[in-house]
Amino acid sequence: MRRNPLHRLLRHAGPLAAPLGSIVRVETRRPEIVLTFDDGPRPGSTEAVLDALAEAGATATFFVLAGRVSRSPALAARLVAEGHEIALHGLDHRPFTSFGAEELRKRTAEGVRVIHDATGENVRWIRPPYGRQNLSTWSTVTRLGLTPVLWNATLWDSRDVADADRVRKATDGVGAGSVLLAHDSFADHSDGVDDGAEPVFDRGRLASGLLAAYAERGLTAVSLADALRNGRAVRRGWFSS
Ligand SMILES: [Zn+2]
Repeated sequence: MRRNPLHRLLRHAGPLAAPLGSIVRVETRRPEIVLTFDDGPRPGSTEAVLDALAEAGATATFFVLAGRVSRSPALAARLVAEGHEIALHGLDHRPFTSFGAEELRKRTAEGVRVIHDATGENVRWIRPPYGRQNLSTWSTVTRLGLTPVLWNATLWDSRDVADADRVRKATDGVGAGSVLLAHDSFADHSDGVDDGAEPVFDRGRLASGLLAAYAERGLTAVSLADALRNGRAVRRGWFSS
C-alpha cells in the first residue's frame, strides 16, 4: 500500500513528538502486563499485595506517596527488597497543577530524596496524582530527570463494585504491553485530599484474583523496569488542566 503524505508526516513526527510524551504502554512481544500500584505504602494493605505478588512470582512498579514513605520507610524498603520497582507519585496526593513551578520542583526533588533515603533507589518514573499534568508540570518534573508514566488500563479498585467486575475491567481488551493502574492504598486526608470514603475490600485477595485471571490468559505481570528489558516504551502527549 502506498503511504500518503499525511502518513509519512505522522511517521516522521512520531520520534520528534516523543520527547514531549508520557509513557502509556510498552511495545513488547512478550506476554507481559505492566502492573502498577499507586497511593501507598500503607501498613496492612501493601503487605497483602506484596504477598499476592510473591505467591504469583510477579513484579510491579509502586508509585508511592513520599509522605507515606516517611511514615513507613521499612515497608518501602521491603517492596524494593522483594524485587519490585519504586517510583514517585508525589509528596502527597494534591495535583501537580495546583502548585507553581518552583514549588512543584522543590516538592518533587524532596520526594525523590525521601525515597532514596528509605530505599537507596534512584527514582526514574513519576505519575501525577489523578493523571493531571500540563506542559508546565511536565517540564518541571522532566527537568529533574523523571519520566511521567500514565496508564492505558485500570482495575476499578477505587470504586465500590464487586471484585469480579474489577477483574473484568482489568482484563477485557487488555493485552501484552498494557500499563495497568491499580492501588495498594487509598489517598486520604493524611495525603492532603478528600476523595470520599474508601471502598472496603481485601486488596490482597483482589491482587491474587487479578494475577490468576492474567495467568489464565497466558499473561505475566511485571514492573515497568522488567517490561523494558524486553520492550520499548510507547509515549504520547497526555495533558489536562
Ligand atoms: Zn493516586
